[in-house]
Amino acid sequence: MTPYTPPTQDQLLAIRINAGIEQLAQSEKFAAAESDLVEAIVAGVGEFAAGEFAPLNRIGDLEGARLENGVVLLPDGFKSAYDAYVEQGWNAISSPEDFGGQGLPFTLSCNVLENLGSANMAFNLLPTLSVGAIEALEHHGSDAQKALYLPQLVSGAWSGTMNLTEPQAGSDVGALRSTATPIDDGEHAGKYLIQGQKIFITWGEHDLAKNIIHLVLARLPDAPEGSRGISLFVVPKYHVNADGSLGTKNDLRCVSLEHKLGINASPTCVMSYGDNGECIGELVGAENRGLMAMFTMMNNARVNVGNQGAQIAERATQQAVAYANDRVQSARAGSPDKSAVAIIEHPDVRRMILRMKSLTEGIRALLYFCAGQVDRGTLGDDAARMRAEVLVPLVKAWGTDVGVEVSGIGIQIHGGMGFIEETGAAQHWRDSRIAPIYEGTNGIQAADLVTRKLGMDGGNAVLDLLANIASDAKEEPALLTLVQECQTIAKWMRDDASLDDRLAGSVPFCTMFSVAVAGWQLLKQARAVAQGQAPALAQSKPVTSRFFMDCIVPEAIGQKASAMAGAELLYALPAKALAG
Ligand SMILES: Cc1cc2nc3c(=O)[nH]c(=O)nc-3n(C[C@H](O)[C@H](O)[C@H](O)COP(=O)(O)OP(=O)(O)OC[C@H]3O[C@@H](n4cnc5c(N)ncnc54)[C@H](O)[C@@H]3O)c2cc1C
Repeated sequence: MTPYTPPTQDQLLAIRINAGIEQLAQSEKFAAAESDLVEAIVAGVGEFAAGEFAPLNRIGDLEGARLENGVVLLPDGFKSAYDAYVEQGWNAISSPEDFGGQGLPFTLSCNVLENLGSANMAFNLLPTLSVGAIEALEHHGSDAQKALYLPQLVSGAWSGTMNLTEPQAGSDVGALRSTATPIDDGEHAGKYLIQGQKIFITWGEHDLAKNIIHLVLARLPDAPEGSRGISLFVVPKYHVNADGSLGTKNDLRCVSLEHKLGINASPTCVMSYGDNGECIGELVGAENRGLMAMFTMMNNARVNVGNQGAQIAERATQQAVAYANDRVQSARAGSPDKSAVAIIEHPDVRRMILRMKSLTEGIRALLYFCAGQVDRGTLGDDAARMRAEVLVPLVKAWGTDVGVEVSGIGIQIHGGMGFIEETGAAQHWRDSRIAPIYEGTNGIQAADLVTRKLGMDGGNAVLDLLANIASDAKEEPALLTLVQECQTIAKWMRDDASLDDRLAGSVPFCTMFSVAVAGWQLLKQARAVAQGQAPALAQSKPVTSRFFMDCIVPEAIGQKASAMAGAELLYALPAKALAG
C-alpha cells in the first residue's frame, strides 16, 4: 500500500471556496478561524494522519481487532497513536470551549476526520463516534451530565458510541426492544436499569480510551409503540463518581466481534446490557424523545459518513496513480515508438484516473459546502440550516457511492494485482463498502430526500437551491441542463407523483441532485483558481473540473428516465415470481 499524502491544497481550496471559512471567521463565535490557524490545522492534521494513522492501516486490516477475555485488543501501535491524537488535541477542534474544546467550525473538524480517515478509515471511526456522542450530550444532556462526561469525551480520554441497532431493528429503529426501568430508591435512585442486546456497535469495546460512554436507545415501561416510545440513555462502561474519577465496572459487556468484509481494525461489537440486572443508565433529554435527540447528532454523523466516501476515494486515487505510473505494459496505440509505456499513458487508464480524481474532488467540494452551511446554521442563519438539511442525504448517499466507485476503479487500474490483497487496493474497496450501509442506508437517505427534505418549506428548500445553481452556472450548458431536469423531477415528485413513484425514483434523483450541486461547487473552485487562488492547482483544477462537466454531469442527466419511471413496473411481478 502506498503512503498517504494529504491533499492539503485541494482541502484548503474547498474550505475557502465551498465552506466560505473567511466569512465564518467574521462572526464572533468563529473569529479564531483565521487564515493562519486554518492552514496550520489542515497541514498539521494531514502530517499527523500520514505519520501516525496511515502506517497502521495495513496491519489493522491484516490483524484486525480481537476479543480476548471480554477485552477488545488492537494491533501494536494503535494505543500509542491514539494517545498522541489525544495529546495533540485533535479530538477537541470543534467541541464546546466550556468543556475544553476549541469551539472552531464544524468545517475544520470535517478536515480532521477527512485526513485521519484517508490515512486509516477503520481507526478513524473511533473519533468519529466520539464526536457524535459529544454532540448528543451537548444538545440534550443535563448540566450535571455535561460536566461529568463532556470534558473527558472532548479531550478524547474517553470515547463514545451510538447504540441503536438490534437484530430485529435496523432501518426500522422504532422496532427496538431494549428496556429501561426506573430505579426508585437506593444508591442509583432516579437512574434506570438498562437491559437488552445491541448489535453492530462500532468501537463498542476497546482498551484505547480509559472509559467508553455508550449512548443507548431503549424503551421505558408503557412507552408508546414505535419510534415515539424511544428514550436515550447514557451508559458508561465504568461508573463515574461525582468527582469525575472512575468507579466500578457497569453491567455491560462485548459478547462477540463481527467478522467483516472490511474496516477490520474497527471492532464491530455485539453488546449486552444488564446480563446481571445491574446495568445503570441515566436518561438524556426528555422521556420518549430519544430518537429526536439522536437525530440532532445524526445530521452531522451522516455528513461524517459521507466524508468517509471522500476519504477512501482520495486514498484509492493516490494508490492508483502511483501504480499506473509504475506499471509498464504495451506501447501507446498508434505511436511510432514501439517500446512499452507506463499504463498511465493509455487513454482508458487516463480516463479512469481522471474519473477518480474528478469524483474525489467533486465529493470534497460538496462535503465542505455542506459543512459551511452547517456552521452558518449554528450561527443562527435559518436558511443555511435548512439548506444543510437538504444537503445531508446528498453528502451521505452520493459521497459513499463515490467512495465505492472510485475504490473499485482503483482495483481495475491495478489489473490482476488489484484482486490480490498484497497491493492494498482491495482493502480500500472492502473498507469503502460499509459506508453506503450504516448511518441510514443510502436507500433510506434517498427516501428522506424525496419525502421530508422535498417537503421542507413547501418544496422551496430544494427548488431554491436548484434555482441558485441555474442562475450561477449559465456558462456550463450540461450543468444547466442537469439542473433543469432536477427541477422538473422535483416539481413532478412534489405535485403529481404518488409516494410509491417518488420512492421508486429516489436514488437516481438523489444522484442527479448531488452531481448538480457538486458540479456547481467545482465550478466555483475552477473560477477561483482561474483568478489566481491556490496556484498549486492551476494546472490540475481546470482539467478535473472540465472532466466532471463533460463526463460525469451528462451521465447524471441520463438518469432522468429512471428517476421518473414510476413504481408500476417494479410491482409488475409479484415478489414470489422474482425468485423464479
Ligand atoms: C460495520 C457496521 C458498523 C455499524 N455500526 C453501528 C453502530 O455503531 N451503532 C448502531 O446502532 N448501528 C450500527 N450499524 C448498523 C447499521 O446502521 C445498520 O446495519 C443499517 O442501519 C441497516 O440496517 P440493517 O442492517 O438491519 O438492514 P435492513 O434495515 O434490514 O435493510 C436491508 C435493505 O433493505 C432496505 N430497506 C429497509 N427498509 C427500507 C425501507 N423502509 N425503504 C426502502 N428500503 C429499505 C435497506 O436500504 C437495505 O438495502 C453498523 C453496521 C455495520 C455493518
